[in-house]
Amino acid sequence: MLLIKGGTIYSPEKLGIKDIIIAGGKIEAIADDINIGMSNISLDVIDASSHIVVPGFIDSHVHLIGGGGEGGYSTRTPEIQLTQITTSGITTVVGCLGTDGVTRSMASLIAKARALEEEGISAYCYTGSYDVPVRSLMKTPKEDIIMIDKIIGIGEIAIVDHRSSQPTIEALKGIIADARVGGILSGKAGIVNIHMGDGERLLSDLIEIINTTELPITQIIPTHTNRSLRLFDNSIEFALMGGYVDLTTSSDPQHLDEDEVKASTGLKRLLEAGVKIDLIGFSSDAQGSLPIFNNKRELVGLGIGSTKSLFREVRDAILQEGLRIEEAIKVITSNPARMLKLSKKGIIDRGMDGDLVLLKSDTLEIDTVIAMGKVMVEKGRPVVKGTFE
Ligand code: ZN
Repeated sequence: MLLIKGGTIYSPEKLGIKDIIIAGGKIEAIADDINIGMSNISLDVIDASSHIVVPGFIDSHVHLIGGGGEGGYSTRTPEIQLTQITTSGITTVVGCLGTDGVTRSMASLIAKARALEEEGISAYCYTGSYDVPVRSLMKTPKEDIIMIDKIIGIGEIAIVDHRSSQPTIEALKGIIADARVGGILSGKAGIVNIHMGDGERLLSDLIEIINTTELPITQIIPTHTNRSLRLFDNSIEFALMGGYVDLTTSSDPQHLDEDEVKASTGLKRLLEAGVKIDLIGFSSDAQGSLPIFNNKRELVGLGIGSTKSLFREVRDAILQEGLRIEEAIKVITSNPARMLKLSKKGIIDRGMDGDLVLLKSDTLEIDTVIAMGKVMVEKGRPVVKGTFE
C-alpha cells in the first residue's frame, strides 16, 4: 500500500490538502488525515506536503514504435523507451503508426503497447496508419476494435496532407462509421484520430461529413490543429459546433516562428473564443518526425517529437498564460480520459487507477510519478527502467 500524505490535490478540481491511499494499484481513499495503525501490512509513505498532486498524464498520440521516414530509411525515428514516458509524467499512452504503414506494422505496435504495460504503465493503440483504406490487423478496423483489447479506435488517418492517401469524403465516412459501430459493440470509444495536414481545405471535409450523416462530431479527434494559424482558427469553429480539438505540443522552433500556434497559447485563445475546456486535448506526437518541407514540398530538415513537451505546454499555460491549474491540467488528464472512454483514468477519485503525478508546489516541476500504484519516478529520476534501458 502507498500513502501520499498532505499533498494539495487537484482531481483536476481543487480538493485542497488531503491524504491519498493506494492499494492493489487503485485509489482506495482520499481523506483529510489517513492513519494506518496496523503493523502487519507493508506501507510506503510519501510526504507530499510541498507538492501538488494531479492525475497521471494521458498522451493520446505517441509513435510508440517510431515513425517518420519522410527523408528515406535513415530518417525513420526510434522506438520509445519506458523512462521517456514516465519522466514526462505520462502514465497512459495511446500508440499510433503514422506515415509509414509498410515497414511499421500493427502487430509490432500492439506488441510494444503490451511491453509497456508489462513494464508498468497503461498503453492502448489506434488501428491503421495515415493510409486509406485502413491498414488494420484483421480484415476491417471495426473487427480490430471489437476483437483486440488494446485497440480503442482508428488512426491517425491523414487528410489534407501531401503525404495522405487523398481519401474521398465517402471513404472517410465509412471509416468513421466503422469506428463508431466497433466502439458501440465493444464498449470502447471507437474514436477516429485524424492527422490534419497543412492543406487548403482545412476542416471542411470533416464538417461536411458531420453535416451530411448521423455520425456524431465527437466520434473524431482532429489533431495537429495548431499547426497553422488558418487551421487553428478553423478549429475554433469546429469546437464551437461541439467538436474536439487536439493540439500537438511537440513543435519545431523554426515552424513556431512562421505560422504555428504554440499549444499553451492556443489553449488560452480557444478559451477566450468561448470553446468549452472539456473539448480540448493536448498530445505530444512523440517519436514522430517533425519534417520541415519548403514551399515546393521538398524535405529541408528533420526533428523528432518528445513526450517532454506534453506537460511543458500545460505548465506554460499556467505560468505564462495565467490559466488556473485545475483548468489547464484537464487537457492531459480528465479530457482525454473522457474522449477515449478510459473510465479508470484521468481523475483522482476512489476506485480509479493509482496513476498520480506529484509536482513541486513552487516550480511545478515533475517530482514523483506513480503508475498503477507503483512509484516509477522519484525526485525527477526514474526508479523503474525499461527492459533494455
Ligand atoms: Zn500526425
